[in-house]
Amino acid sequence: MKEKIIAIDQGTSSTRAVLYDAKGKLLDAAQEEFQQFFPQEGWVEHNPELIWESVLSTLTTLTKKNNLTSSDIASIGITNQRETTIVWNRKTGEPISNAIVWQDRRTAEFCKSLSGEEKSVQEKTGLTLDPYFSATKLHWLLNNIEGAKELAINGDLLFGTVDTYLIWKLTEGRSFKTDVTNASRTMLFNIKEQEWDEDLLNLFQVPKKMLPEVCDNVHNFGFTSILGGEITIGGVAGDQQAALIGQCCFDPGEVKSTYGTGCFMIVNTGEHILTSENKLLSTIGYRINGEITYALEGSIFVAGSAVQWLRDGLNFFKDSSETESLAKDASTDSNVLVVPALTGLGAPYWDAEARGAIFGLTRDTNIADITKATLESIIFLSKDLLEAMKKDNANFNSLMVDGGMVANNWFCQQLSNILEVQVRRPKIIETTSLGAGYLAGLHAGVFENIDSLKSYKQIDETFNPLKESNRYKEWKGAVEKVLT
Ligand code: ADP
Repeated sequence: MKEKIIAIDQGTSSTRAVLYDAKGKLLDAAQEEFQQFFPQEGWVEHNPELIWESVLSTLTTLTKKNNLTSSDIASIGITNQRETTIVWNRKTGEPISNAIVWQDRRTAEFCKSLSGEEKSVQEKTGLTLDPYFSATKLHWLLNNIEGAKELAINGDLLFGTVDTYLIWKLTEGRSFKTDVTNASRTMLFNIKEQEWDEDLLNLFQVPKKMLPEVCDNVHNFGFTSILGGEITIGGVAGDQQAALIGQCCFDPGEVKSTYGTGCFMIVNTGEHILTSENKLLSTIGYRINGEITYALEGSIFVAGSAVQWLRDGLNFFKDSSETESLAKDASTDSNVLVVPALTGLGAPYWDAEARGAIFGLTRDTNIADITKATLESIIFLSKDLLEAMKKDNANFNSLMVDGGMVANNWFCQQLSNILEVQVRRPKIIETTSLGAGYLAGLHAGVFENIDSLKSYKQIDETFNPLKESNRYKEWKGAVEKVLT
């Protein structure tokens, strides 16, 4: 039996192809960064063709290095940066412009002009009316790229998030599909009815014929011949939902929090949609065999990127891992507080114009104090998310963490202390690609069902809360000062 699985993890700054075995063990990976484009302030673009090239080249590197042919691969899984919007020509396959990336804020004014629609958009999609999601980006492309609107009306253009574009490319145009998790981030998809919403299509002036078919996360998304013989694409999910699956958060109340460049906390809310009163997003966790699981999500735009800023912007240290010893060595009576709003504040504030600040500087403040306060600030933002989830009546019974920052033990212990929950770190912190691998493996029958996946879960370390005083209250005061 073919037992190896390849997960394609198409992220915001790099693409990875990861090889897993039938027990979910990571065997090897290939990674490539690709170019980012910042044509104007607040604009962020990717070239879809460069994304595709990075996928091809990481797949080739991985398979060559491991002497793999298509007959060794049971299935391919895809996970991807969500919301990023691509429009391409159905006949020529050519994108009509660069992709507009989820971070891009060019549609902020348009969103403001729709403020009367906020409530109905939230009811249908679970999302806040924000440039973050695909709908206003797609509207922008159709109205600003010459001739696009007419071509779309004629049925000559296709819209997709990155998963859809990659499926289309991998299957040489045979499959035009997406999965429910990616669809749930477009702001065009009704998460209750689980279909494209006619009212939203009218609101954003999007012709329905340019939208892909929406499928379960475990599904036959088509086959690819790029490695010779045919391999089925058996699993697809957006990156944060893939991490939820990779962390095996299959029961209501299970939470995963990813601390990479940004931080994304998601709680499984089971078969019910929890509508947030606290500016969190209701979204689809996954749908397998037609059974839907919803989730509540909070995102913090700046997490590891604040560490990068200390390292590259302020030259405080050479390697991010040094933050651990700096934080440990910092003075215990420093009053420094950092608000890391370097690119605005995400949930629960949603204040794009807020900017960062450092409070409480004195003559003896040093690099260690500011570093420690920066790490703490990301924990305080996590505490905000947790409190918002609790207020929204989400169950909350365990916290699984992953992402680059959780290599830092001081950070994980403080996270447990301040959130007052047990924090568990898995052995594989590469949970996004693991989730895509699980989905693909489920389709191929390499894994029996989602319950069987739990037996592969390995915990590296568990952090239990220690009762220590913390400065969350004071920090909230500091945040008040930067809100616009
Ligand atoms: P992404 O997937 O978003 O590119 P990663 O999950 O690879 O991000 O995490 C990278 C981030 O984690 C970087 O911003 C880096 O500064 C931060 N990071 C890496 N190691 C540590 C550490 N030991 N302590 C704190 N931050 C760290």
